[in-house]
This record gives sequence, C-alpha cells and structure tokens, in this order.
Amino acid sequence: MSTHDQLTFQNPVTRYESITPPKQHQEEPGLDAELTPTADRGEETYRGTGRLQGRKALITGGDSGIGAAVAIAFAREGADVAIGYLPAEEVDAHRVKELIEAEGRTCVLIPEDLSTKEACERLVAAAVEGLGGLDALVNNAGKQIAIEDFADLSDEQVTQTFDVNIIAMFRTCRAALPHLAPGSTIVNSTSIQAYSPSDHLLDYAATKAAINNFTKGLSQSLAPKGIRVNAVAPGPVWTPLQVSDGQPKDALPEFGKNTPLGRAGQPTEMAPCYVFLTSPESSYVVGETLNANGGQVSP
Ligand code: NAD
Ligand code: MG
Repeated sequence: MSTHDQLTFQNPVTRYESITPPKQHQEEPGLDAELTPTADRGEETYRGTGRLQGRKALITGGDSGIGAAVAIAFAREGADVAIGYLPAEEVDAHRVKELIEAEGRTCVLIPEDLSTKEACERLVAAAVEGLGGLDALVNNAGKQIAIEDFADLSDEQVTQTFDVNIIAMFRTCRAALPHLAPGSTIVNSTSIQAYSPSDHLLDYAATKAAINNFTKGLSQSLAPKGIRVNAVAPGPVWTPLQVSDGQPKDALPEFGKNTPLGRAGQPTEMAPCYVFLTSPESSYVVGETLNANGGQVSP
C-alpha cells in the first residue's frame, strides 16, 4: 500500500507494489471487505483540493472498487454523494458512507438492482431527494462474467450484462436529465475492453464499446444545454469484480502484470480522472474517453 497521497511526486511503477493475488472466489457481486490483498480506494491516500465544492453526485456501484474510490475522492473534493449498489453489498456501502461522513459530507445509500427501468428511476429519484438536487452523475455499475468458450455463453448472461452495463445507463441518464442544470456532468465507466476485447469477455466488451459510443453521442446532444458527458476507460484495476468470476481463476495471480507499468492499478488511481471530468476545470472536454490503463496502447 502506498504511503503517499496522489499529489506527491513519485514513480508510477513503484507507487504500488505489483500484486500477485491468490486464486480466490466470491459470489457475484463480490465485496471489497473480503478481497485479498485489500485494494486502495484512497482511504489514506486521496487528498482533496476543493474541486467539487458543494456538488451533488450520484455514483452507481459506489460501494466498492472504482466507484468507492470515486465516492471517497468526490467527498474529499467537497461533494455530497449518493451511492447505488446491490442489497448484498450493504457491508461495503456502509464502510464508504462512514468515510464520506468523516469528511463532513452527506452520503445517501440507495440499494437498487439496476436491471429494470423502474429501479433506475427510483435510484435517481432517491438521490435527488436525499441530496436536495443532482448535478453530477457517474454511471459506474458494471457486470463482468468470464466464459471460457463462446459456445457456453448463455443468452441469459448476454441479456443481463447488457441490461446492467449499458441499458441501465440510458435509463439512468434519461431519469436524471430533468434535474441536471447547466454545468452538470455525466461520467460513464467504460473499459480498455471497448478497444481490445478479450475472447472470454465478449458480452462485457461489447457493452463497453457501446458505452463509448453512447458517451460520444449523448455528449453531442447535451453539450448545447451546458451538460458535459465523458467517460473513463480503466485497464486492469484490482476490485471485487475480478474475483467474482470477472477473470478466469488461473489469470488472477498475473492480473495487471502485462501492462507497461508492470502492475495492476489500484481503484484510487482512477479517481482523479472522474474528478477532473466532473470538475468545472474540464469545461471544454466533451465526449472524451480518458484512458487510465497503465500504458496499454488503445486506439
Ligand atoms: P466492483 O465490483 O467494485 O463495482 C461494480 C459495481 O457494480 C458493484 O459494486 C455493484 O454495486 C454494481 N452492480 C453490479 N451489478 C449491478 C446491478 N444489477 N444493479 C446495480 N448495481 C450493480 O468493480 P469495479 O472494477 O470497480 O467496477 C466498476 C466499473 O469499472 C465497472 O463498470 C467495470 O466494468 C469498470 N471497469 C473495471 C475494470 C477493472 O479492472 N476493475 C476495468 C475496466 C472497467
Ligand atoms: Mg461492490
């Protein structure tokens, strides 16, 4: 674990050790509380600089991994935060809430399975009510199940992955739109899989390519209204997604070692991308996908 905050001049190769995670399994959706080794979501390492003062943000999948790191960073930057997550993730969600409240910020917890239109609408309504408005949306919830052989990829899995990863994004953005005043932002979590699909993640990778396209398209529609839409494309980041069937078990010890930095990313290393794209300082950045992948070249 790093002892430095993200603003300290440091070598990105050695900022975090190159982890060799033991083979492990958690039932989907997986918990940060049970991840070995633990991941850095910025608890001790993210330093806020006032970039999101007074903002009201909804972060889906904000209980763990990248979403938790974004939630912690947003609170330290001065935002109140609502987080969406699955009912099975209460332990992780409450831990994030404690960290946010320790910053003197509000945290609204909203357990909803985003597989249906009604749930996406309830999520947005609860965030607006709990925060007293909404001016930042981070669509980060995602489902990733690795399948050894394409022939074994069920129709049900393909449908569920599309429902959670991309269709929920359409629904959540649509529900949020009436609440978003000029200056508001939307940031979507996509992936390097959008450009370089792995053969064991075809359904997941296809949703991530769709998210890139949706981000660019929606950005054109909302820019004239003063609402900016962008995306972040992480590479291999150590989160519960990876141990709840997101990767083949044999691949876990090598996870992230093939990047030019030679190590997996930690969730908190993604947070500054979301902060930047949500902050007013990125006012002329629209429809962009910011890659944060340890140096893997993406087109
Ligand atoms: P994570 O497991 O910590 O977060 C994913 C979250 O998605 C879960 O916490 C859960 O709350 C939410 N989710 C899943 N199914 C849901 C459903 N049906 N309804 C509501 N919420 C649901 O893992 P993470 O790696 O931090 O993933 C966050 C995002 O980052 C995902 O979109 C993922 O695709 C993307 N991403 C991750 C990596 C990586 O290497 N970890 C790389 C590229 C992209
Ligand atoms: Mg989780």
